[in-house]
Amino acid sequence: MVVELVSVGTELLLGNIVNTNTQYLAEQCALLGLSLYHQSVVGDNHDRLAEVVKTALGRSDVVILTGGLGPTEDDLTKEVCAEVMGYKLVEDPHTREHLEQFFKNNIYKEIPDNNWKQAMVPEGALILDNHNGMAPGLILEKDGKTAILLPGPPAELYPMFKEQVYPYLQKQQPEMIRSAVVKICGMGESQVEDKLLDLISSQTNPTIATYAKTGEVSVRVTARAKTEEEAKTLVKPVVKEIKNRLGDCVYSVKERETLEEAVVKLLHKYELTVTTAESCTGGLLAGRLVNVPGASEVFREGFITYSNKSKRKYLEVSKSTLKKYGAVSPQTAREMATGGVFATDSDACVAVTGIAGPDGGTEDKPVGLVYIAAYMKDKVKVEEYRFKGNRAKIREQAVVKALDLLRRSILENYR
Ligand code: ATP
Repeated sequence: MVVELVSVGTELLLGNIVNTNTQYLAEQCALLGLSLYHQSVVGDNHDRLAEVVKTALGRSDVVILTGGLGPTEDDLTKEVCAEVMGYKLVEDPHTREHLEQFFKNNIYKEIPDNNWKQAMVPEGALILDNHNGMAPGLILEKDGKTAILLPGPPAELYPMFKEQVYPYLQKQQPEMIRSAVVKICGMGESQVEDKLLDLISSQTNPTIATYAKTGEVSVRVTARAKTEEEAKTLVKPVVKEIKNRLGDCVYSVKERETLEEAVVKLLHKYELTVTTAESCTGGLLAGRLVNVPGASEVFREGFITYSNKSKRKYLEVSKSTLKKYGAVSPQTAREMATGGVFATDSDACVAVTGIAGPDGGTEDKPVGLVYIAAYMKDKVKVEEYRFKGNRAKIREQAVVKALDLLRRSILENYR
């Protein structure tokens, strides 16, 4: 089944808001195993919207439109879709009641007249109740084509989609879709693709797709089958093969597990405690660890030693090391990690020191140069990175690599 997305709103065209709805819907459609070939954005203009709806209905089975369902003059989605598909607008008593209730609950004194517009629906349309706002969602079916009209505000759209549209679309699909994700750190997307090239190029069912985000790569394996069991059976050996090929770079095969969760799980498993010693990441690393519930049992202390003075004071980095090699050096990173363990009596310490920029870089030590060290079992491992990007991106990449160094060190020393 081919689905198409249309976002309606002049503010989207002007770049005033980011089109996050499309990202969400595209992801959901992929989970449903629907084919998506086109997405478009159109302003609040009758003729252009009508043209886009006609084209979309001509080439796709299902068109999902978001935005433009509200009470104002420029909210046109419902009117235009009804017109294009040949529907008459009639008042829906249930929606009218919902609007009255909504106003009562929100203690508005008067109901503005234009609000009743939202109770007008195309005759025979399937109405999706909006539990988080006023405008209902609508499903219009005609001659084997379907238009699904959803509200623009994400807080209204997401629950409506998940609770009402997802099951509707799932029913239209004769096949089950199941997917699994393999999460990878310590290998770039092209390296991952290279190792999986033969699997990817011969893919039909399941399909294999790679995605990259800061410092990480995900591989999604998706299968279609008549039953859920059958789909899972198709996915399982492919996930196993990917894990075998990528080895310790795979940190999780759980949909929602984050890198820091995987790290905290390992710390729990081997009953280890960790301390962080951060310079350029200024607490971001500790913050990621503390994101995980249960971190208190494994996270001992976090130092933010931004100045040389504090590196000496709290971590006992030697004056001569700082003088001879500088604060951004493998030697300093090593002493920070060692100092962190001895200051807190933890099993491990991860240290980060680098130049996040935009100033402070030199030819020898450019912006993006970061040293990460992990102390574990009387050994210190130091890694050098040369990250690209702005200050925020450099710091974010450093945190991912620090978490990953900790993860790999645990596996090397304790598994
Ligand atoms: P309402 O019922 O609140 O009037 P609507 O269905 O008419 O909603 P719009 O008026 O088009 O929707 O958009 C309302 C708000 O929803 C926008 O100001 C914006 O904050 C958010 N929004 C709309 N479309 C998107 C989108 N594609 N991505 C993210 N946010 C969006």
